[in-house]
Amino acid sequence: MNKLTINVCPVCGCTHLERVMTCTDSYASGERFDLYRCTECGFVFTQDAPVEAEIGRYYETPDYISHSDTRKGAMNAIYHRVRQYMLGSKARLVMRYARCTGGRLLDIGTGTGYFAQAMDGRGWKVEAVEKNPQARAFAKEHFGLDVQPESALNEFAPGSFDVITLWHVMEHLEHLNETWVRLGELLTPNGALVVAVPNCSSTDAKRYGADWAAYDVPRHLWHFTPATIRRLAEKHGFVMAGCHPMPFDAFYVSMLTEKQKGNSNSFLKGMAVGFSAWLSAWGSKERSSSMIYVFRKKQG
Ligand SMILES: [Zn+2]
Repeated sequence: MNKLTINVCPVCGCTHLERVMTCTDSYASGERFDLYRCTECGFVFTQDAPVEAEIGRYYETPDYISHSDTRKGAMNAIYHRVRQYMLGSKARLVMRYARCTGGRLLDIGTGTGYFAQAMDGRGWKVEAVEKNPQARAFAKEHFGLDVQPESALNEFAPGSFDVITLWHVMEHLEHLNETWVRLGELLTPNGALVVAVPNCSSTDAKRYGADWAAYDVPRHLWHFTPATIRRLAEKHGFVMAGCHPMPFDAFYVSMLTEKQKGNSNSFLKGMAVGFSAWLSAWGSKERSSSMIYVFRKKQG
């Protein structure tokens, strides 16, 4: 297996990197992966993950939920119900930050296309990109969306989009810095970049340690905190314009963690832990399980 061995911090360039914990891929392979942290900026990442060309099999499970549409079990039922609510709330957030109505939006890693469809229905001109061919086919069949493969990102003209969204996608992208450069090129000068990622400084992450399901090794390569994503964004000429908690993720991630730990009562236990994490994030949004960050290009 070819591995992505990182010797230089992708955020700050420092070479002082230390192992912080070892996580197990409970989802696909059962293999173990180390998480490392940069001692200079605190950025945490998965060390020695499979390279992009070989990571495909780590996504191949019958029910990788973000690409599935099954409604089996309480967890999936809740996931689908919550997704409907979240779609409306994401759309409202995007429209709040957009400096135009019905502009051009690019959704990267669109999955089965629900968000792209929601924005299309609100009058936006939507382009969507997704690497998984089955997910693209789903979006075409159910919504009539022409979702592009990843290669399309190199073909759009500079300044093509008023809004670019990445909903739980950034943590999967091997070419992190190259992606930020491209985002800067594709966005209009007044555009908004909306990035949702898990927060490894959240209350639930701290409680579960290496068992926290949102480490999701080796699929998640980068484990952001509000401070580290801000630093990465600033390096690429962006400023943080907003930061919003995603309150439901604490419940979902806690239930998934309990399930992966083999807790037979994972639903109730996860709800209980999720509730206390949610309560804690209520007092300080930077402790929320997942966060939505909005960035703009630095002016001048
Ligand atoms: Zn660093």
